[in-house]
Amino acid sequence: MEKKAFVTKDMVEDIVKKYPTPFHIYDEKGIRENAKALKEAFSWNKGYKEFFAVKATPNPFLINILHEYGCGTDCSSYTELMLSDAMGLKGDDIMFSSNDTPAEEFVYAAKLGATINLDDFTHIDFLEKTIGYIPETISCRYNPGGYFEIANSIMDNPGDAKYGFTKEQLFEGFKVLKEKGAKNFGIHAFLASNTVTNDYYPELARQLFELAVKLEKETGADIKFINLSGGIGIPYRPDQEPNDIKVIGEGVHKAFDEILVPAGMGDVAIYTELGRFMMGPYGHLVTKVLHEKHTHKEYIGVDACAANLMRPAMYGAYHHITVLGKENAPLDHTYDVTGSLCENNDKFAIDRQLPKIDIGDYIVIHDTGAHGFAMGYNYNGRLWSSELLLKEDGSVQLIRRAQEPKDYFATFDCFPIYEKLK
Ligand SMILES: *Cc1c(COP(=O)(O)O)cnc(C)c1O
Repeated sequence: MEKKAFVTKDMVEDIVKKYPTPFHIYDEKGIRENAKALKEAFSWNKGYKEFFAVKATPNPFLINILHEYGCGTDCSSYTELMLSDAMGLKGDDIMFSSNDTPAEEFVYAAKLGATINLDDFTHIDFLEKTIGYIPETISCRYNPGGYFEIANSIMDNPGDAKYGFTKEQLFEGFKVLKEKGAKNFGIHAFLASNTVTNDYYPELARQLFELAVKLEKETGADIKFINLSGGIGIPYRPDQEPNDIKVIGEGVHKAFDEILVPAGMGDVAIYTELGRFMMGPYGHLVTKVLHEKHTHKEYIGVDACAANLMRPAMYGAYHHITVLGKENAPLDHTYDVTGSLCENNDKFAIDRQLPKIDIGDYIVIHDTGAHGFAMGYNYNGRLWSSELLLKEDGSVQLIRRAQEPKDYFATFDCFPIYEKLK
């Protein structure tokens, strides 16, 4: 699929008058259309709900847009719970899917009435000791081990993942939880990440539905929801076919009708905790070319760096690049596009075919709407960029200002650097 930027050179030249590069910008129209399509794809399921994985894009303005389509939040830390709390989300709108969980996070999640999704068998005791009871509604995360395969091709490696209960622990766990007073049960599993295929969710659903039928039969636990979690991916590369959420929804529906309905479990709610799929394609990192360097290779130095987008440095991830104003120019140059960190992995692209780039050009790095800004860090004292929202009416709203030195130095109460220099 051809990758087109949702901003043009003219738009960016206008935006930078107020908000200098680098910045992440999000496309409200795209976010809305996608959220609507997801909702429709699962409308066959009465209790369906998406809990947006906050870690992907922890910005209340963006999460509020999703909330209009019935989405809640999936939190995994104290501050993500705080964000949900501050947005006025409560109880049924919050899923707490954490692991290696500190006690105070369980306390906060319980106080908010969030649905707690336990990552481990030992957390049953830990939770009970910490908050003094077992909530009536409780979920457990499942990890079958081995490889997750579709049609004999390996999608991911749950056997090497730190998350979840084994199958035996899940059966035992449900019995223990029931004895301790739990009434409404959920199952959760996240077995493959960034899947660019319409088959992942239906296959996962099939496995979880079969498990749910056995669990209800053997433990007597009343299973109210099955959480398919995250993992629906996006086409970072132009040669990848995007997932079709309608086809995915129909695939899960088919498995539901074949397995749960005949078992008398047709009232089970389907939950999802998508992050990447909800936001990924609807964010761009916009950056300006500062330098060109001709040594053993051709380098283009931009004003963003891995502190603004870590995925290429961390995973060697591909992010497509558009040079604004040169969308139709021939890709007849080979560049490494770099940031300024004193780390040679600070490259947004390596040996990439691009049009001839000039100093002052604006570059769009695609698909930064999820796990983009959120993974930002402050190495080399590099500061986080601003976040902007391109609204449906074409206007631009600042939804998080850029970090300033005073923010970077804020935790030096013991040596207030910023105050000394004022
Ligand atoms: C990261 C995460 C998600 C979201 O994953 P995506 O790949 O962004 O869809 C959902 N649930 C849990 C528990 C996660 O850790």
